[in-house]
Amino acid sequence: SKTIVEGTTKVSVPVPPPDATFPPSAAPVFYNPEMELNRDINVAATAVFVERLLSRKELLREEVRYVDAFSASGIRGLRIAGEVGIHATMNDWSPEAFELIKENIKINGLEEQTQVTRKSANVLLHEQKFHIVDIDPFGTPAPFLDAASTSVRGMLSVTATDTAPLCGAHLKAGIRKYAAVPLNTEYHSEMGLRILLGACARELAKHEKGMLPLLSHVTRHYVRTYLEVLPGTKQTDRTLKSIGFSIHCPKCGFRGPVYGLAVHIEKECPVCGAFTQIAGPLWLGPFREQAFCDEVISELEVHPLNTKDKAKKLITLCRDELDIPMFYDQHVICKELGASATGIEILIEALKAQGFEASRTHFSGTSFRTDAPITEIKEIIRALSG
Ligand code: SAM
Repeated sequence: SKTIVEGTTKVSVPVPPPDATFPPSAAPVFYNPEMELNRDINVAATAVFVERLLSRKELLREEVRYVDAFSASGIRGLRIAGEVGIHATMNDWSPEAFELIKENIKINGLEEQTQVTRKSANVLLHEQKFHIVDIDPFGTPAPFLDAASTSVRGMLSVTATDTAPLCGAHLKAGIRKYAAVPLNTEYHSEMGLRILLGACARELAKHEKGMLPLLSHVTRHYVRTYLEVLPGTKQTDRTLKSIGFSIHCPKCGFRGPVYGLAVHIEKECPVCGAFTQIAGPLWLGPFREQAFCDEVISELEVHPLNTKDKAKKLITLCRDELDIPMFYDQHVICKELGASATGIEILIEALKAQGFEASRTHFSGTSFRTDAPITEIKEIIRALSG
């Protein structure tokens, strides 16, 4: 094994065999260095949420309970205990992981603020309530969302690494896991996030809890979201108003939301008349709160983090995105038109100059959001192409 440092936390992790294809899964206990950005943001986002909880004056810091339900080396929970200063429970059903977590607690001197359990995550989440529930399993979080929704009292943080099912690349797996139909379009990454958020909203709704997405980000390998959980039927009913379907026209690129669960959806594209495709049910509301993003950006400053600059850039992009579902990719439109692409900022300025709203998106550097109709977008791209 070797000792690694993330933030101010030292963790002993096993070294995978040199011939392993994907190192993390070949080791006796999982550790993926690629997830440091995800964990750094987790420290800042959790710290911000804890401050919000404490400002309600209902709890003392030492009473706030966080669970890292799939802990492996313990790194997530240890970082929250040490770098945020709240109580953390670390759970993993693997005997090797359980022993390693105990060792890592000792290395960091965090015995007072931590608890270790060796249970099936669903059992633990049914047995105990936590203010913050963090689920970071292998692949899909779907089998754990029900128990996580029962347990959670404040914030639900979810990582999903099953991007292929979520994004529509493995369509049948996506339908099985999320009881929703994704579409594999150029905005598949946003599709994946909205399918996951829709599933979270419906799981929470069973327990009469609503949600407010505080922060979400997507890379090629995973989707990560932080959801404030709000109890009560009013909050739940409000939340479900953001569930609906997304129409996509494969011919002209038109896309549009349809809110509701039992809805009439026109078969023909309102722009070109072609047969449309439907995705959903999915989340159509905002996937982040701007004030929360601002607070996380400030919080990142006070922690010694290796990925600070990357994290700030990502969250700034996320904060500044328009709340209009399903981004456009300039290259896809250019290809259809036989036009050449310009810098994304130039295109955004051109859209704004025509009186439309437009922004970049954290999902992709060649993409943008706008309230301009697809016909206008194409005209502007054509004009820019010269
Ligand atoms: N959170 C860790 C991190 O940031 O490094 C990574 C966790 S790893 C992706 C998933 C872990 O969950 C593995 O260590 C595995 O043993 C454990 N696990 C898988 N299914 C489980 C279950 N149903 N209950 C408890 N632990 C489980």
